[in-house]
Amino acid sequence: MDSAPLLDIHGVRKSFLKPDGGELLVLDGIDLTLKEGEIVGLLGRSGSGKSTLLRLIAGLAEPAAGSVTYLGNEVAGPPPGIAMVFQSFALFPWLTVLENVQLGLEALGLPSDEIRRRAIEAIDLIGLDGFESAYPRELSGGMRQRVGFARALVVHPNILLMDEPFSALDVLTAETLRTDFLDLWSEGQLPIKGVILVTHNIEEAVLMCDRILIFGSNPGRILKDLKVELPHPRARLDPDFRELVERIYVEMTAKAAPAAQKRAERPAGTGIGTILAPVSTNLLSGLLEAVAAPPYEGEADLPVIAASLQLEIDELFPVAETLQMLRFAEVAGGDIRLTAEGRRFAGLDTDERKRLFAQHLLNHIALAGHIRRVLDERPEHRAPWSRFADELEDHMSPAAAEQSLRAVIDLGRYAEVFAYDDEKHVFSLDNP
Ligand code: ADP
Ligand code: MG
Repeated sequence: MDSAPLLDIHGVRKSFLKPDGGELLVLDGIDLTLKEGEIVGLLGRSGSGKSTLLRLIAGLAEPAAGSVTYLGNEVAGPPPGIAMVFQSFALFPWLTVLENVQLGLEALGLPSDEIRRRAIEAIDLIGLDGFESAYPRELSGGMRQRVGFARALVVHPNILLMDEPFSALDVLTAETLRTDFLDLWSEGQLPIKGVILVTHNIEEAVLMCDRILIFGSNPGRILKDLKVELPHPRARLDPDFRELVERIYVEMTAKAAPAAQKRAERPAGTGIGTILAPVSTNLLSGLLEAVAAPPYEGEADLPVIAASLQLEIDELFPVAETLQMLRFAEVAGGDIRLTAEGRRFAGLDTDERKRLFAQHLLNHIALAGHIRRVLDERPEHRAPWSRFADELEDHMSPAAAEQSLRAVIDLGRYAEVFAYDDEKHVFSLDNP
């Protein structure tokens, strides 16, 4: 039996206005349906527009083009029947658990005994029995997140939208909450008909979803729609589970590579507009070293190396991409392969590494080369933060400009090619 979709999204496009008046295209050509009984995952790196899409579905924002249809009606303003769970909830500290959950119902204008009855029911369902009169400060992070779930479930929504609901929790708590949620869902105990789960965690998506939509960035779009046919309860160590995780890794890195490749191929001196991701220099050299060493000998499977370094994809991609921009590695098809220079780096001592790194940084990361040239040319060899921030803001948002400058400062400090004074907000060649 094929029921009509709960939610139907066609050709959705969304953009924001940039400070310079230009348009930042965040979502383009989004098609998505959610049917009764489905958990659909939106999987992608941060900035790919997942939260924006949830806001469109929840009626908190309007698409620039295309349509969002909920139960046959175009969404205009928050529809009753769609509730949202966030990464962390703003619980009111002066209200008890029960009162915090009841809040979710107050807008519905129900009689007060009905409100109380439903709130207690939601609290019991989500495993908060006995905590009705506790205050948020008395609860652990996991319990607070359960209050958030109860507040969303108490309205008996048709669709539950979840935006990275487990990512602020420690590993064990997150897993317990996921499993509890899946148990209730598969036993049909949750008062909901369909779920959209936003995540950047591949394993979480494979564990929980019936379908996974893989998002690409710039602009956010759906690259792939994957069915997950594994029976529940799913085991992370099951070979079929691992194989699917691996396939998704390959999918995501294959799409991530061309953009970084293009950036790497730009001649030095241009490409200041490239947004740099903050990465730890320890991770950069750590990843180089790990890939250079046995058993990998210069070439490794990204999922394998990620697991062995205990990295998440949001950490792994920027590191691998920065190595690619620096031309110490190539990333393609789920693999990372060191270049000859990358292999050389791994074999050097600390001082020699810094020299090689400095050379690659100045030659291949345009912003670093630019800052160094400006400092070299100025008689005092100093320039304020705003000198570069203003320039970058012609190419990107102020937030992206700040992020890129912070990232290049870390790289520049590590390579000792320039210094930055955090208090005076000044770049210099002082004792770099
Ligand atoms: P994700 O949830 O996948 O991490 P988001 O939907 O939060 O991505 O953001 C996608 C892009 O849209 C980002 O580049 C972000 O900076 C931008 N963005 C989100 N909301 C706004 C806004 N209100 N104004 C301007 N830009 C925004
Ligand atoms: Mg988000």
